[in-house]
Amino acid sequence: MVSKHRTAIVTGAARGIGAAVATRLASDGLAVGVLDLDEEACTGTVDAITAAGGQAVAVGADVSDEASVARAVVRVGDELGSPTVLVNNAGITRDTLLFKMAVGDWDAVMAVHLRGAFLMSRAVQSSMVDARFGRIVNLSSTSALGNRGQVNYAAAKAGMQGFTKSLAFELGKFGVTANAIAPGFIETEMTVATAERVGASFADFKAVAAAQIPVNRVGQPEDIAHTASFLISEGAGFVSGQVIYVAGGPKD
Ligand code: NAD
Repeated sequence: MVSKHRTAIVTGAARGIGAAVATRLASDGLAVGVLDLDEEACTGTVDAITAAGGQAVAVGADVSDEASVARAVVRVGDELGSPTVLVNNAGITRDTLLFKMAVGDWDAVMAVHLRGAFLMSRAVQSSMVDARFGRIVNLSSTSALGNRGQVNYAAAKAGMQGFTKSLAFELGKFGVTANAIAPGFIETEMTVATAERVGASFADFKAVAAAQIPVNRVGQPEDIAHTASFLISEGAGFVSGQVIYVAGGPKD
């Protein structure tokens, strides 16, 4: 079904989970603003979408920069129509133990995840409120429950959950839902980098992770895209303020 609410923005969509979400939303019938730090890096995602008959535009923007976010949202509105779907997916890690963590490691992670989701949501909310329809999906993580070497990332991802629930309270009466997806181990460049940091081959790192996951495999970006597709659908209008763990098993 082609949605009548046609425009989405997916941040951090040049690769990994964001690219899979953008591609999936395009195949669901939405025009997609494929946003990432480097516009050129978005070309692969945009080309995949257009080759499949979808509509997308590459947008270079830093989600942690207020002016950059404002420009990006205006551009998507001009080229694809006012956005009524936002997936706050852009993310970074700066993992290290607390005693070694620099203030810059803390600030960088907070800036991309929390400040970024705040700036993007604030910039897009008015078109959602005007349309009396909107869907915001925020990427949290199982790390929100606490993870060694990730005090910054865990705090940011737990913060995403409180942010999401507050958006749900504020925007619900305008037809806008807000939900969080909390992925477990997903095979992307982010987890490749984590394996490198701990000195493991990616194959070994994945095998160890999979052995601890009830469904006995690590996740793929498409697992997250599938959940996002449900949450942004028009039929999911009574699901709001939820955190959905997509981790191959239950989490506390
Ligand atoms: P990734 O590193 O492959 O991709 C992240 C993308 O975000 C990159 O393209 C990067 O350029 C972009 N980005 C970073 N800073 C940005 C900024 N300031 N402005 C715009 N774009 C920016 O990561 P991924 O694994 O695809 O992760 C996507 C999201 O899912 C992140 O929020 C991550 O924290 C979360 N997540 C990932 C996993 C996992 O196992 N991979 C698990 C839980 C949560």
